Amino acid sequence: MSAPHLIWFRNDLRLADHAAVAAAARSGPVVALFVLDDDKPGHWRMGAAQRWWLHHSLLSLGRDLAARGGALVLRRGLAADVVPQVAASVGAAAVHTLTHYEPWAKAQDAAVAKAVTLKRYHGALLAPPASVTAGGGGRYRIFTPWWRKLQEQMPPPPPQPAPEMVFAPLPASDTLGDWRLLPTSPDWSGGFAMWMPGEAGAAARLAEFLNVAAGYDKGRNLPSQDGSSRLSPHLALGEISIRQVWHAVADAIPAAHAEPYLRELGWRDFAANILDQFPDHGDVPGRAQFDAIGFRDAPRELAAWQQGCTGYPIVDAGMRQLWATGWMHNRVRMIAASFLVKHLLIDWREGERWFWDCLVDADLGANSLGWQWVMGSGVDSSPFNRIFAPVTQSAKFDAGAYIRRWVPELANLRDADIHAPWEAEPLMLRAAGVALGRNYPHPIVGHAEGRARALAAYADAKAF
Ligand SMILES: Cc1cc2nc3c(=O)[nH]c(=O)nc-3n(C[C@H](O)[C@H](O)[C@H](O)COP(=O)(O)OP(=O)(O)OC[C@H]3O[C@@H](n4cnc5c(N)ncnc54)[C@H](O)[C@@H]3O)c2cc1C
Repeated sequence: MSAPHLIWFRNDLRLADHAAVAAAARSGPVVALFVLDDDKPGHWRMGAAQRWWLHHSLLSLGRDLAARGGALVLRRGLAADVVPQVAASVGAAAVHTLTHYEPWAKAQDAAVAKAVTLKRYHGALLAPPASVTAGGGGRYRIFTPWWRKLQEQMPPPPPQPAPEMVFAPLPASDTLGDWRLLPTSPDWSGGFAMWMPGEAGAAARLAEFLNVAAGYDKGRNLPSQDGSSRLSPHLALGEISIRQVWHAVADAIPAAHAEPYLRELGWRDFAANILDQFPDHGDVPGRAQFDAIGFRDAPRELAAWQQGCTGYPIVDAGMRQLWATGWMHNRVRMIAASFLVKHLLIDWREGERWFWDCLVDADLGANSLGWQWVMGSGVDSSPFNRIFAPVTQSAKFDAGAYIRRWVPELANLRDADIHAPWEAEPLMLRAAGVALGRNYPHPIVGHAEGRARALAAYADAKAF
């Protein structure tokens, strides 16, 4: 048997349309490896919710490999050490992997490449970030011109099926259960049963979305409806390729209806493009003056926001959806994030870290881009003075059913009262069984007061 080729899986836990899998399979017998490397700088160790997902995704990939006569080798430790060790132990001719753009992935690549022959392939994004450049070769920081330029490379090449593989003898593997990726006591993952992690689950989610994809442009903004694809956790761990999603949607619905969705896929690539240029975008504001903002140290208010007890139903519904399911509707992410950084004037990094721990779709590029966009501190030209009015947003996007689902103590309120219960007639509150301050909180800050305080703090920091 010729020397084996090692496939090093990272956030790309699939067999189809995976250039590293395909190249390794073409080259000889393969060994499939995943390394749990928790050595991440700062707060960026994989969060608890995504660890739950990872556990199930690895099980799924292991099953898919077993069905082909192979297995997934699991190892824990520094990828920089473990990948070369496994490669040496099997006598690998080369290590094949997809390129990722988180700073730790780049550091791993550099270290591994010093020890073994590392072959890296494009495949985590629509286009390699450095390939989308302006006339003079400069990189983009603003979405619209970047998106226009990306079109020159679109559509992406058609996705490829999973290849035939021959497996080399297996080196020793850890046991997944020993990694303790799942919560134990308490087990908070009951609400995660709605998800089906893994490549088959991702394909099923995509197929379901195609039934409603034509209505995406309207439906995506309505949290009470299932109008968006909910593919984000599958994409975050690479159980489906972005090209598979692009082509499925572009083929299924007319171009005019597909465009808003394809553009949203573009935001994922754009987030990686920003992270590639600004590796500390998760920790450092894109514009330095934003570090001068006098954020409040308010642990009780932070806890109220985290637990969905701010007294603003739309914010509380979102935060409880996040806790229960590991996911939050995009419109509500914007409202809840804005509430934290503007109304409560709490440092955006607190919110970013909470999301990181709670989101099954946690992605450093998308999360930091989202928080810096809401903050107005990003390297793009997002307006600093955008302060979402939670009540107006909740009514405009018809969030009544969403609030009833996630804040059951308000379920009996009329549509007219559910967005701002403190404005309801006492009689109506009593009839609905709502006792403000007893079974649902008063707003922890008034909208006008929070808005004025935020604008003053931004002005003081000369963030305008
Ligand atoms: C404060 C904040 C934090 C966020 N953190 C994350 C995160 O950690 N991980 C994450 O994947 N998304 C994040 N987003 C972006 C967005 O909210 C989610 O991608 C989206 O809600 C996922 O749901 P969906 O799959 O139904 O999206 P759809 O509307 O169906 O969109 C399809 C796909 O496009 C991509 N996408 C859509 N919007 C964005 C966006 N604004 N930025 C980057 N990619 C996007 C996602 O991969 C998504 O799955 C964040 C947004 C905000 C405002």
